[in-house]
Amino acid sequence: MIGITSYGAYIPRLRLNRSSIYQAMGWFAPAIVMVAQGTRSMCNWDEDALTMSVEASRSCLQGMDRKKVDAMFLASTTLPFADRQNAGVTATALNLRPDILTSDHTASQKAGTNALLSALEALKGGDRNSILVTAADRRETRPAGFYEMWFGDGAASFLVGDTNVIAEFKGAYTLSLDFVGHYRGARQRFDYTWEERWLRDEGYSKIIPEAINGLLGKLNITMDDVDKVVYPCFIKAEHKKIAQKIGAADKVVDNLHEVCGETGCAHPLLMMASALDEANPGDRIILAGFGQGCNAMYFEVTEAIENVKGRAPFKTAEANREVIDNYSKFLVFRDLITPDMGIRAEAETQTAMTVLYRRRHMILGLVGGKCKACGTPQFPKSQVCVNPDCLAKHSQEDYEYAEIPARVKTFTGDLLAVSLDPPHIYGMVQFEGGGRFMADFTDCKLEEIKVGLPVRMVFRKKAQDKNRGFVNYFWKAAPVPGAADEMAKIRFDDQVAIVTGAGGGLGKAYALALANRGAAVVVNDLGAARDGSGDGSATPAQQVVDEIVAAGGRAVANYDNVATPEGGENIVKTAVETFGTVDILINNAGILRDKSFVKMAPENWNAVLAVHLNGAYNVTRPAFAVMREKGYGRILMTTSAAGLYGNFGQTNYSAAKMALVGLANTLKIEGKKYNIMVNTVAPLAASRLTEDVMPPDIFEKMKPEFVVPMALYLCCEDCEESGQIFNAGMGYFNRAAILTGKGAWLGTESDPPTPEDVSRNFSTINDMTGGKEMADLNAAMMDMMTPPEAGKKDEKSPEDKGGLSVAEIFGKMPEAFDPEAAKGVNVVFQYSISGPGGGDWAVSVADGTCDVTTGAADKPTCTLKIADKDFVDMISGKLDPMTAYTSGKLKIEGDIMKSQLIGKLFKMR
Ligand code: NAD
Repeated sequence: MIGITSYGAYIPRLRLNRSSIYQAMGWFAPAIVMVAQGTRSMCNWDEDALTMSVEASRSCLQGMDRKKVDAMFLASTTLPFADRQNAGVTATALNLRPDILTSDHTASQKAGTNALLSALEALKGGDRNSILVTAADRRETRPAGFYEMWFGDGAASFLVGDTNVIAEFKGAYTLSLDFVGHYRGARQRFDYTWEERWLRDEGYSKIIPEAINGLLGKLNITMDDVDKVVYPCFIKAEHKKIAQKIGAADKVVDNLHEVCGETGCAHPLLMMASALDEANPGDRIILAGFGQGCNAMYFEVTEAIENVKGRAPFKTAEANREVIDNYSKFLVFRDLITPDMGIRAEAETQTAMTVLYRRRHMILGLVGGKCKACGTPQFPKSQVCVNPDCLAKHSQEDYEYAEIPARVKTFTGDLLAVSLDPPHIYGMVQFEGGGRFMADFTDCKLEEIKVGLPVRMVFRKKAQDKNRGFVNYFWKAAPVPGAADEMAKIRFDDQVAIVTGAGGGLGKAYALALANRGAAVVVNDLGAARDGSGDGSATPAQQVVDEIVAAGGRAVANYDNVATPEGGENIVKTAVETFGTVDILINNAGILRDKSFVKMAPENWNAVLAVHLNGAYNVTRPAFAVMREKGYGRILMTTSAAGLYGNFGQTNYSAAKMALVGLANTLKIEGKKYNIMVNTVAPLAASRLTEDVMPPDIFEKMKPEFVVPMALYLCCEDCEESGQIFNAGMGYFNRAAILTGKGAWLGTESDPPTPEDVSRNFSTINDMTGGKEMADLNAAMMDMMTPPEAGKKDEKSPEDKGGLSVAEIFGKMPEAFDPEAAKGVNVVFQYSISGPGGGDWAVSVADGTCDVTTGAADKPTCTLKIADKDFVDMISGKLDPMTAYTSGKLKIEGDIMKSQLIGKLFKMR
């Protein structure tokens, strides 16, 4: 039996939105709107028919023994060399054996099927057992024509042979007619096309049916013996009509207009690849190519197709896509407009044929060396082993790098280097198992490149020597499709999370999601009734654990009651004893006991506060201790809109939920220097707590999964936000905050204001215009203690008022420094200056020297907080430091005694 033994496909990653062509050129050619749907594939600037042929062949040869290939046929009408065998370049790049037959098939759109048929017929001769047939095309079209819309770039590859046949070749019928729907004269860049109806009516619709019917007749079969029919025709309506004409309306394979457009002589083979991706044993397929006649072949799919099913080469090629709307990029990449590349682009790129031939395996095949003595791989191959412990000489055997997985070790984006797609990205690539080299990166954006990103090597144009008509090829690194997204994923590997009340509702959703992204989870749940009553049940927590473990995750159940200190201790103990630590705590457990206020009996009040407020305290305290010790933690409190905004019948619940905001407000301050971030989520989700308070139709739409993303983000390492409250539900997220209004200063220093003063000024006091959030109590106090000067209620910085700016004062500090007074003094003063001219400065005094820097110091001796205006006044002698301190204008944290040295160390006036 002979036939197809493997197949591969390649579609360039870039897909141009056809509507972008119309948007740019519709003014000129309005009719192209008729075919402006979907995307067309387009080569990157460094791709051509040859590079695509290598990629399609690699796709086809996956898992196959390349050394068994004994012929390579390359079909294309857009080969880079008119006289240098292009198939020879592909074969060298693939590291095929040198003693094989290579040949180029060209000059017709049916070159692809011609090459395939020639290979199948060559097998019959018996001299060759395994032939690689690859077709690739990157046709040039003039801007704003229909053909620019219809065409795409791509390649497909078939290995044919006599063992492990996945589609048996049953026979062929060929028609050779000098029908010219279009032609491209030798040395012409673009096709000359005759009227479309000529191609449609006399070409496609007559010649394809004639060949297919000829095949059926020759093999003595009917269309009933056929399951799928593959033939190209970029005019979609005509493609369908032909199918009807030959009685195969429900068997015709899609012409891929929306996927990539027509890929020249590769197209019937690419469509065949798409059909084989879906094929089952026993399927019978007709494949026909069209162009100066038509050749039709009949295949029957065998059981062996099951062995290659998982690879789905066509689907894989189709899925690796980046859709762009940048038509100018398309024009530049295809040399249809020539941007000014600058004088650097004028550097000579002549290739020394001597070096290219002698180093062909290294340059075209990416072959390095591996030391036979110590096994160290290296690129390039050299006379001496690179391993310093080995240094063996002449010990290197060939080592092929192209298929070895690699990762980015270093990278740079260079805007100065010459590139048709700036920035030019390049860097060091590290291969699995050893060996590295500096590579250009392609098919990527700078933003997605990261150290450690998995890359694969791809065969690309390195440079084009336009003066001599030579193209230089080499290997580049391209991100493995999907790897950048995978790396950017929020993960919790090696982290331990506690979720309280995780037996159901939101807690369960958090636990499942955390485990799914790598966390080991303590699933706590008492298993009580909605109002917290009952003895509890182990079942809900255990069920969630079972679900996590069944999905391959790590979890342990805990049934403690969060409402008791022992319960809290035990939950944290479970985490530490089972998984070694605690990184994440989600305080989620909750109950409801709603009653209007007068009916709110103490037991209902206390029970709700016990679970929500005391519960969070009981678990957080021991967890915080672990987190503080290790210098990392993420804590999430759960508040509620009832607490933030109020809700009838929920005084107990609202009080408890708002109390958690207070707990988080202070805990964020205590946790900050230990990298413990404390945030609060106000969820809205369907659960048993809300099932009877929500209308049923809305209830349906509120899955906990719509809250989960916010909770997970707030618990991840990248989240450096702390002390914030976020509403989350139904996919809607926003931040809630406590705002403080600008207010009014009433009374004088000696006379307190009267209630009448408040009454008169109430609208100003009540006005929230320009209200702001306070980072902490000190910030709020600072604001209260710095009334604007009488009659000047504006917020101008001292600098705006013509005085010295705060920054200028710090700039002068080194001059004002007295080294004599600083003998033996070792201090760091941190200044935190509020107001429009303010900021943070650190003044370090050590060994008789003074260093002033902006920003926060690591370990300040003391921190001085003061408003910008008061600071300037104090320095210029208008405000006595002691008065500033006692009046509260100046706040000092840390070693207050050391702050008194400031006056001695600096003589500012
Ligand atoms: P839920 O009833 O489905 O989940 C709460 C879980 O906490 C239950 O499994 C329960 O067994 C457990 N639990 C109760 N008391 C416990 C205790 N003492 N110790 C350990 N576990 C205990 O409710 P849910 O809607 O998923 O609520 C989760 C959290 O979100 C609660 O804090 C709730 O107040 C809050 N919340 C929910 C919504 C919402 O729309 N669902 C709105 C605002 C706030």
